[in-house]
Amino acid sequence: MATGFIFSEKFLYHNSDSRISHFENPDRLLACMNKLNKTSYFSSLVTPELKEISNEFLIQVHANDHLRKIEISSGKRGYFDSDTPFTEKSYTAAYCAANSGIVLADYLIDGKIKNGFSLLRPPGHHAGHNKIMGFCILNNIAISARYLQNHGFRKILIIDWDVHHGNGTQEIFYKDPDIFYLSIHQFPFYPMTGLPTEKGEGKGIGATLNIPMQANSGDNSYFTQFKELIIPSIERFNPDIILISAGFDAHKHDPLGGMEITTKGFEKITQMIMESAMSICDGKVLSFLEGGYDLTALAESVETHIAVLESFS
Ligand SMILES: [Zn+2]
Repeated sequence: MATGFIFSEKFLYHNSDSRISHFENPDRLLACMNKLNKTSYFSSLVTPELKEISNEFLIQVHANDHLRKIEISSGKRGYFDSDTPFTEKSYTAAYCAANSGIVLADYLIDGKIKNGFSLLRPPGHHAGHNKIMGFCILNNIAISARYLQNHGFRKILIIDWDVHHGNGTQEIFYKDPDIFYLSIHQFPFYPMTGLPTEKGEGKGIGATLNIPMQANSGDNSYFTQFKELIIPSIERFNPDIILISAGFDAHKHDPLGGMEITTKGFEKITQMIMESAMSICDGKVLSFLEGGYDLTALAESVETHIAVLESFS
């Protein structure tokens, strides 16, 4: 089978103005595309077209007020929160980013791809039910998880290895026993959530697992956590599909994160997840870009991440 890949020029619309100096900018995706275009496997990736997305799927994750706030930002510029600026067409970029996961899900359901990656922006994992924050407008991975739940996938596991805790994703699924949220992140660090004591609520108790890591943790510390805690947890939960919040800001060269993961390290943790996915859910994995702010480190890490996905498809 094949690996799906989504990139859209529309992802570049968000904060596309060079007057806005921000780490989360269109150059991130352009650096990745530049790198990917030179790979031997790039032409073999399946590249579905984005379609219009209706609010039908978004309201299963976000409050009406949240969606309204984004809609009325169209054609304007300003700040959703102190570190989340928007420009005239951020609305379009955010809706396309959310849509990309749904399009990949449809391809996976139809058997056209085995796994997939969306090279999207703006990222999503800090966006809560009714909160725009931390560069995130719509929670892309959460929207896809709910969509998959509505399309025959009962148990879904989200692994989030962005250097920041995905507080938005955790909040959205905190009471849901069928969507397991597993995060490994730097702590103490923005957004200051993600303690091991945060384990879910009500029926969702036990379906949230937080693994805080000290600053300066590198490949070996991460490999140990994957081997001893993360992979066994995935096997215990036994999901029908695995979704990855793939942030690459725990890279040693990242200007925002304080971790020491190498590009090879990201290759290895992708391999560990894929090997586990092959035995648990027939290799069904969809991956979503989150953070990653050093252009070279990001492009190399994304390239190696997709190469591993492709090798398992
Ligand atoms: Zn991050």
